[in-house]
Amino acid sequence: MRRRNEELRRKSFLIFGSPAVGEEEVEAVAATIRSGWLGTGPRVACFEEIFRSYTGARFAMALNSCTAGLHLSLLVAGVGPGDEVITSPMTFCSTANAIIHCGGRPVFVDVDRRTMNMNPTLIERAITPRTKAIMPVHLAGRPCDMDAIMETAKQRNLVVIEDAAHAIEAWYHGTKIGAIGDLTCFSFYVTKNIITGEGGMVTTDREEYADKIKMYGLHGLSKDAWKRYSDEGYKHYEVIFPGFKYNMMDIQAAIGVEQMKRVDKYLARRNEIWARYDDAFADLPVTRPEPPEPDTVHARHLYTLLLDIEKTGMTRDEFQQRLHDMNIGTGIHFISVHLHKYYRETFGYKRGDFPNAEWISDRTISLPLSARLTDKDVEDVAEAVRFLLRDSA
Ligand SMILES: *Cc1c(COP(=O)(O)O)cnc(C)c1O
Repeated sequence: MRRRNEELRRKSFLIFGSPAVGEEEVEAVAATIRSGWLGTGPRVACFEEIFRSYTGARFAMALNSCTAGLHLSLLVAGVGPGDEVITSPMTFCSTANAIIHCGGRPVFVDVDRRTMNMNPTLIERAITPRTKAIMPVHLAGRPCDMDAIMETAKQRNLVVIEDAAHAIEAWYHGTKIGAIGDLTCFSFYVTKNIITGEGGMVTTDREEYADKIKMYGLHGLSKDAWKRYSDEGYKHYEVIFPGFKYNMMDIQAAIGVEQMKRVDKYLARRNEIWARYDDAFADLPVTRPEPPEPDTVHARHLYTLLLDIEKTGMTRDEFQQRLHDMNIGTGIHFISVHLHKYYRETFGYKRGDFPNAEWISDRTISLPLSARLTDKDVEDVAEAVRFLLRDSA
């Protein structure tokens, strides 16, 4: 086995989530720097318009991260000290942290093992008089059951803020993700489907939310304060709210504008890789991702295998280490948020609270899926996974 392992080992380490960027981005950034306007300006406005029309929402506000978007969305939705927000524990910590930054309490509900998304039938039971909002997370790019979530929100008068960090390209029942909930937050972090290095976007149909997010994201200065140094002439601004420094730079937006030109091409490439993986792993002791639900588009952000740890006699961490030894980088999405120290100690969450999220936490592993991967990279991943698991099939 060792000898075969050596033969199969890639020459160079395959980084998980390496972004697909090219000379177009390099040129766009260089042009931005040469323009002399590096901060928030015309390129941010252009990126916002591209993204707005891509999602079909009425407004799109660029920020320096999705986390900033989640925070501001909760603030403008009126979440404050003592309020509760219902969300999925199967997410990145920033979903829960954004709630805590508003003084709120993250109330988790368990996920469905098959979709790994929050189970909408559990939401009703988690609602209390303090509940203000629901934050669905479209894990891996698979849209949540938005019909059920929106219906509950409507009945109980709750705001819906979607964490669509994984779901840039996703559609649900004929509507683009970004045009369904009250507010939707996207991420352009380096590992995401579309990248700006760091960056995020919030979409909404409500002008009041849009105006506030723009304002809160730039220190709480009055409208269009970023133009104060432009050729329109200096205008005094007023501070209307003690806001945050969450604005996106034109350098970042320049990358985003180039990336959006290739959003469909990248998705098509990840679909191809996805199909190849599905094919390669059919006979292994793993659960492959479920096909997308009818009348939805999966954004193909993460290809996650659930390792059959009972059959393989190998923990997920051991499996991940062995892939690493073969020079294949992987990710874990996620260790359920309620299992982390802070949330256990602060909110009293413990193992046993959300059995499905825990079950996934122990088994999930994400394989490289970037549109940047060559066919050879994809075969290296497929071969390494097959080599490590075939014997226990
Ligand atoms: C990446 C990610 C975020 C945070 O995005 P940033 O742009 O890095 O702030 C939020 N939620 C989920 C599910 C993520 O994967």
